Amino acid sequence: HMQTRNVAEHLKLMTDISEVSALLTESPDLQGFLDRAVGLVADHLVADVCSIYLYDEETQMLSLAATRGLGPAAVGHMQLKLGEGLVGNALKELRPICVANASHNPHYRFFPDSGEESFDAFLAVPIQRGIEKVGVLVAQRDEKHLFSNTEILAMRALTAQLATAIETTRVMLQISQPSLPSDSELVDELGRELFVQGRSASPGYALAKSVIFARHPVERILNQNRELGAGAGSAEDLNTAIERTSLQLEHFQLGLGDKLPEVASLIFESHIMMLKDRSFTGQMFDKIESGAPASRAIAEVAGFYVATFEGSTHDYMREKARDVEDLALRLLSNLSDSDDDQAPDWRGRVVIVRELLPSDILRITLEDVAGIVLASGGLTSHVTILVRSLNIPMVIVEDLRLLSVPDGEMVLLDADIGNVYINPPETVLETFGGREQARETVAAQASRMVDQTLLEDGGRVTLLANINLLSELDLALKLKAEGVGLYRTEFPFLIRQALPSEDEQFAVYARLLDRMQNQDVTIRTLDAGGDKVLAYFDDAGEPNPALGLRSTRLTLRYRDIFDQQIRAILRAGMNSDTLRIMFPMICSLDEFIEARDCVLVCVSELESELGIEIKRPKIGMMVELPAVVEIIDDFAREADFFSIGTNDFIQYMLAVDRTNARVADYYCSHHPAVLRGLKRVADAAIRHNIDCAVCGEMAHDVRYIPFFLGIGIRRLSVDPHYLPEVQQCVMSWSSVAASAYADEWLTKSRISEIDALLAASLTKSK
Ligand code: PEP
Ligand code: MG
Repeated sequence: HMQTRNVAEHLKLMTDISEVSALLTESPDLQGFLDRAVGLVADHLVADVCSIYLYDEETQMLSLAATRGLGPAAVGHMQLKLGEGLVGNALKELRPICVANASHNPHYRFFPDSGEESFDAFLAVPIQRGIEKVGVLVAQRDEKHLFSNTEILAMRALTAQLATAIETTRVMLQISQPSLPSDSELVDELGRELFVQGRSASPGYALAKSVIFARHPVERILNQNRELGAGAGSAEDLNTAIERTSLQLEHFQLGLGDKLPEVASLIFESHIMMLKDRSFTGQMFDKIESGAPASRAIAEVAGFYVATFEGSTHDYMREKARDVEDLALRLLSNLSDSDDDQAPDWRGRVVIVRELLPSDILRITLEDVAGIVLASGGLTSHVTILVRSLNIPMVIVEDLRLLSVPDGEMVLLDADIGNVYINPPETVLETFGGREQARETVAAQASRMVDQTLLEDGGRVTLLANINLLSELDLALKLKAEGVGLYRTEFPFLIRQALPSEDEQFAVYARLLDRMQNQDVTIRTLDAGGDKVLAYFDDAGEPNPALGLRSTRLTLRYRDIFDQQIRAILRAGMNSDTLRIMFPMICSLDEFIEARDCVLVCVSELESELGIEIKRPKIGMMVELPAVVEIIDDFAREADFFSIGTNDFIQYMLAVDRTNARVADYYCSHHPAVLRGLKRVADAAIRHNIDCAVCGEMAHDVRYIPFFLGIGIRRLSVDPHYLPEVQQCVMSWSSVAASAYADEWLTKSRISEIDALLAASLTKSK
């Protein structure tokens, strides 16, 4: 009686469900939706039983919310603890559980009178958003028709859809009948002190009051509305609020210009556009016309858009939700006549956030936050690098409890190690107070830096800075960097919601070259994709982003983007003798030459456009792929210089995702293959008399610096704040001692042998 469903039929189910969930925005009827959903799924799977359980985070209980096939009386009564039974386990472990003989399974929980005894083929699929638990979808049928892998996959896709619809509906329901738990109820549950261990994403230390950025945006807008005393404002008041808001936005734009020049002109662009958008503010005026006070009109219209955008699986859309929320909060606070800005203040606080989107960086910068706790894991490495560049301590934890910490609690963030203390006891505070005092100031470090870094026997080593944001140039100059060894151009691209134009890029590069007068400036062309995702390049079609269409592959495919960037760089460097251009992730000589030709064509085009002669910059490449090592001499003949990106070199050499914590143990910088590969690259550079720098994280690690010196590397490019440490280390070595050190490492074939050498050298240096 049953045939296997094909993919098209599974897709049809998804469409049906999204049609049903679309109705939800008109009338948020959660029960009705769940009933329809179990019906559709039961029919689709030809299942005898299909049920949805919803999870309550506070009580940690799952309860039956809708069913087809079980007795209707069980709804609301059948309850399971997290981890209890097959259903509770599916949610606890966040994985589907599929068994053939459910009633024989030791985890099976049988509920008498529910009528489920005879259906032994059993499938439970968690309904989740990220690591957030929403519920479980369960299907059962007789044991002759087990669930297939395709069916399981289809149900996984479906539950992702359900999760969004359920969450959005819950939020919409709160708009109509708000009754939210107050913060104080949650603090009692937590107790006063809380210690959570996470991992460090950006080093440093902070002691400051907490502010949570985690509640659903719509809730925040509603809370704000309530605080204002719901029901304030006329159409005229809304008009005034809009005007005030525009002025504020312009003011912010100016303020940000100094700190993040890369984005100064664009930051609040989308806010301003929304304010001008008649269909957005127009809806608010319409609501006022039909009797709503201005505050509610703002909350409702914004709430609708936020809920819609929030439901998207695209970062880009979720960022839009953030924009709408920001704007609504600003409008609401401008509606109340008070001068003080009531939008939640992050100034000087430790911000606890659920997720961190690139656009949040702007607000973090603007408000000088003391530190960040990211409470639900997951982060692209470029957002991390950005936070590090801004010098803000950040810890990543996977503990949603932190999102319930009330605003204003004392937080001690030890981001060097990754510890978070809420309301730390006196003893902990004392320990950290001492450590903080011992930390050297930049001025003290700068005074010890010497202009030239020399080995003990006089050899010259050039120390350069890795720059992600122009604001880091100050530190680099104070700490006597001799140039920029790697300027990552991704950030102006990353932070915006659309591609920056040639002129916008020109402005950024010109400022960079201007600050670094007469010093080497190495600009790397766009390295997007992989772990550096741009909002407007949808990489959903990349099954394996690190190995996909990224970096130079991407820019060579989209030639106009590449040309625009190169023209911007060349125009900025027109009067400079020290500009260098390099390409990331080069894989073949053909690719390098193709990219170099693009530069040369741009040079001659610009020359004829402008009627002047343009100096051809040095053109080099990053060494990041193992393939390059085999033909490194051929590259050395063509490239003007090399720069070894050890972060990716290790990732690709060892096939270890650099962002995946589960395989972090396999990411071994001193794997013998990595070391010998590095040696071959350095040798080729020496043979062909070209520069070879190291610019990955390994370059600042004092355990590896003598190795680099030993194989003949004389250029190191590091995050500016590492410069003092690196200089001190380099100056304590002679080239002879370093060569001996490296030679010994190169004889080893096992990681463990090098581990042992490392351990020995550390005790020696103490
Ligand atoms: C590297 O891969 O080592 C590197 C310096 O580049 P990025 O970290 O930007 O990929
Ligand atoms: Mg790289």
